[in-house]
Amino acid sequence: MHLLVNTINLNLKRLTKPSSLVLLFNVNSRRPLYLSSSLFNNETTTPPPSVSEDPAGNSVFLKKKYSDTLLLPKTDFPMKVAHAKREEHENTIANKRQFEQLYGFQSLWRQGQPEFVLHDGPPYANGDVHIGHAVNKILKDITNRYKLLRGYQINYIPGWDCHGLPIELKATKDGKRGILTDPLSIQTAARKIVDESIAKHIEAFKRWGILAEWNSPYKTFDKSYIKAELQAFLQLYDKKLVFRDLKPVYWSPSSKTALAEAELEYNQKHESPSVFLSLDLESTNIQEFISKIDATTPTVLDKDAQVQVLIWTTTPWTLPSNRAIAFNKTEKYCLLDARQSNNKVFYVVASALRTQFCVAKNANYATVLEFSGEHLSKLTYKHPWFENEICPFVHSDHVTMEKGTGLVHVAPAHGHDDFVLGLQHNLAMDCYVDDQGEFDSTIPKLKALPVLSLGNKVIMKELANKIVCSTTIIHSYPYDWRTKLPVIIKTSKQWFVHTEDLKSKALDLLKNVHIHPKNVENGMLSQLIRRPFWCISRQRTWGVPIPVLYNKETGEPLINKKIVDRLCELVDKSSNIDYWWTCPVSEIIPDDMDPDDFTKGKDIFDIWYDSGLSWHLLGGKIADMYLEGKDQFQGWFQSSLLLSTALRETSPYKNLYVHGFVVDEHGKKMSKSIGNVVSPWSVVTGCAERNQPAYGADVLRWWVAAQGSADGGNISASSALLRSADESVQKLRNVIKFLISYCNEAAAADLNLDNISYDELMYTDQYMLALLRDFRNQVTTHYEDYNYHRVLMKTLHFATSEVSSQYFTWAKDRLYCDFLQSQSRKSCIYVLSQIYSTLSKILAPVLPYLVEESYSHYKLGNQSIFKSTWFAEEPSWDNKNITTTFDLVLDIRESLNHIIGANNPKDLWVELQCDAKNFQTLQILHPLPDDDIDKCDSELCDILQISGLDLKCYEVGESNPKTDPLQPINFAIKPTGVGHSHTGYSVGICKTKMMQCARCRRFCCTPGDVLCTRCLSVMKSILQKQSQATSPAQVESSKKKVVNI
Ligand SMILES: [Zn+2]
Repeated sequence: MHLLVNTINLNLKRLTKPSSLVLLFNVNSRRPLYLSSSLFNNETTTPPPSVSEDPAGNSVFLKKKYSDTLLLPKTDFPMKVAHAKREEHENTIANKRQFEQLYGFQSLWRQGQPEFVLHDGPPYANGDVHIGHAVNKILKDITNRYKLLRGYQINYIPGWDCHGLPIELKATKDGKRGILTDPLSIQTAARKIVDESIAKHIEAFKRWGILAEWNSPYKTFDKSYIKAELQAFLQLYDKKLVFRDLKPVYWSPSSKTALAEAELEYNQKHESPSVFLSLDLESTNIQEFISKIDATTPTVLDKDAQVQVLIWTTTPWTLPSNRAIAFNKTEKYCLLDARQSNNKVFYVVASALRTQFCVAKNANYATVLEFSGEHLSKLTYKHPWFENEICPFVHSDHVTMEKGTGLVHVAPAHGHDDFVLGLQHNLAMDCYVDDQGEFDSTIPKLKALPVLSLGNKVIMKELANKIVCSTTIIHSYPYDWRTKLPVIIKTSKQWFVHTEDLKSKALDLLKNVHIHPKNVENGMLSQLIRRPFWCISRQRTWGVPIPVLYNKETGEPLINKKIVDRLCELVDKSSNIDYWWTCPVSEIIPDDMDPDDFTKGKDIFDIWYDSGLSWHLLGGKIADMYLEGKDQFQGWFQSSLLLSTALRETSPYKNLYVHGFVVDEHGKKMSKSIGNVVSPWSVVTGCAERNQPAYGADVLRWWVAAQGSADGGNISASSALLRSADESVQKLRNVIKFLISYCNEAAAADLNLDNISYDELMYTDQYMLALLRDFRNQVTTHYEDYNYHRVLMKTLHFATSEVSSQYFTWAKDRLYCDFLQSQSRKSCIYVLSQIYSTLSKILAPVLPYLVEESYSHYKLGNQSIFKSTWFAEEPSWDNKNITTTFDLVLDIRESLNHIIGANNPKDLWVELQCDAKNFQTLQILHPLPDDDIDKCDSELCDILQISGLDLKCYEVGESNPKTDPLQPINFAIKPTGVGHSHTGYSVGICKTKMMQCARCRRFCCTPGDVLCTRCLSVMKSILQKQSQATSPAQVESSKKKVVNI
């Protein structure tokens, strides 16, 4: 027998482990006969297929099943978790991986590390959790878990807002014998509602995997919290940043309390009367009027004609409180001849609005003269209700020419602008409306009439002779956000924070706050600029009482350190502040004052004052982040900023993260009446009624990250989106399962991957690392920018396309078929372990259940992934040469795909003709063997998934590449116009003459052979190993070793 010794050089990386491997070939058939080296140490002990001998005495493998000899992925990590088992499955993971203990663990692991303080905005401790809670808590949790992996110690104390009207209203209905009215019973019932709600919330938040200090949350009714509030109020009072005054406030007759702007919602379809009234001037004589406005008498006028002024209102109930008519001195006004419908009467109206009035009246009045508004200040008119009262005309810039008559009815007790005018012109502030929203007894005819209904009607009836025309209009009107009923504006004595004094300082502080997303930044600024004043007193029971005594005679408030300290002592003794409502003044008042002269205040603090002080819980720390819905621009974000500015001249936060609200797939707000409410519980545990399977917490979290972190806009929730989230998580589970199978090999000490150097890796693997590095950088940037939806999109695409579809396809042959400990497998497994490590870290903040589960199947994952930290920068992976090479290869693959369409290329032989530059580039992936067998065995063949390849260089000066002598069935010049960026090559294809290997299924066997060179070598090694296994026990022992990889 003639033997040819052929030393494999370039392909050593591809095929074998030892660097001095020698193969022996039959010179005639060039078929590998046997492997001379005993260095192979294939551990596979599965019995090989039957072997017989050929006539020359060589071993010959028969066409049998070889699947048992393949190194297929092995792991008990489940491919799928049925929806019906999700709940149990995730609960098991949470227990096994100690989800609830993680917060405590990380405090130890990260001791001494920089802290990340996410200060929890307190949700109302009222009722069940809703989908908005899920959005908020999960976005916070993703942020916290990411920061934990970045090496920070997490400071996240969950909190609850325990006071407020919704809880009080519920508590008042708690009486078994009817509505509760006494404060103590209401407080006891409210406290019970709060405790029950918090317990329900905690159960849900834990189930969603929220990482937090569950053992000691903060509650705004904790005694330490109440004491801080009392002391803060004293400080504000001493700094003159709070004051008590009569002011118009939004008043809810249905809740019987003042409301803050943040507690209003606007009903766009509110119906109001729209009434034009004509009021008599003090002197109605037209001649007198003409002289006052400094005009010449038009010839059309009767000498005894009368002049009336037109006003317009949508709140007739405020007419008794009218104290002036406002005009704009920069506008023109005119006199309309209305004698056709009202004998001898001329109306005064703004010129710009006369047409509007004529249309409303359906009349065609002629303008008899026009004059400047400034003259109106000389006039006076008769009060519409109290006819003996004479009232002034006053100028105001807020009079516009959009609606009405340009002559605005001013009731200082019932409007913010009106109130300011009242102060400027010393107008009376009389308010005839009580706290029920009904007229008081000042005007007997109106007594006890609800102003918005009967009040309006009776007044319009009484003033019928002054009404020129009336109709009903539909317009936007403020409503109580709790009771969904209209509010009114009325004056009352209230406590206010001096927002005017604080705003500019707060705006300055805000300049250093980073607001995410950028497009909502102006929302915060404009809400702060627009804020008129902040009324912090409420006339309710369930809350922290404003610690003020009032002098019975003068009404003057009394508050000082002694009183507040005394109250704080009493809070300590009784654990709450309920005693305020029952204890005598003598227990609170300083000894040197007479308790009989004072009475306790009955106001409580606005809940925004309660929660706006929560930053005090952080000691002197400034929170790294506040993360809430965008409604908090006028709520918690603002109240916290104003109070922190007032009390310590600093912002309470460094970053604001703002999210939108959940709507259905049609963009509609969720509402029980429409039936489009998606409950977070039903997402996690399923809902038979809605035919919704149990998706589990990870899918809920994926939906939140994918939909809730984009641009602060609406967040869509629908069955389709949840299904899509479920499918995405499933795709990632599949990828992780494949990775885990081989990562456990990577973890095995005998594979010795720690010592593998970058240069030893195959080029395909170096390319994968370059992609991985790029992916890591991009995703890290998205995390740093809080763009979690981009993290998910990028990760899903990377995992399913670049990793699964592309890299797994390229790598499967060597993973399954090469020698167990070959360099080619080591190289690949090293990369797979890097991909797993990357994906598990990137996914852990969003999918903690899936990642911790995979970790429990991972040999190195005996501790939580959150004990590890973010991946290190790997500068060596940034290999421009390799990415340039693969750019060309992927272009060639695209060209090939263009030629063959949907056909599988595995039985094709490719001829690739290149210019010198491309030829040189591609040579590293496909060295230039003479032998067809070697031409089948290159990285380029693996990438193109073809049988074999001839790589040729154009001759110098040759314009057209030569066709191949292989009788191509199809030969194509590189196609143009299909978007390829590379030139300088052409692809030709034909059917391969090589045969399919019975083991690896590649077309790389010489005709007549069953196995390819590589598979033959591996099988020989297995056989050799088998024969060396002398005892059944040894066989058994090595079998186990394989199973465990
Ligand atoms: Zn093979």
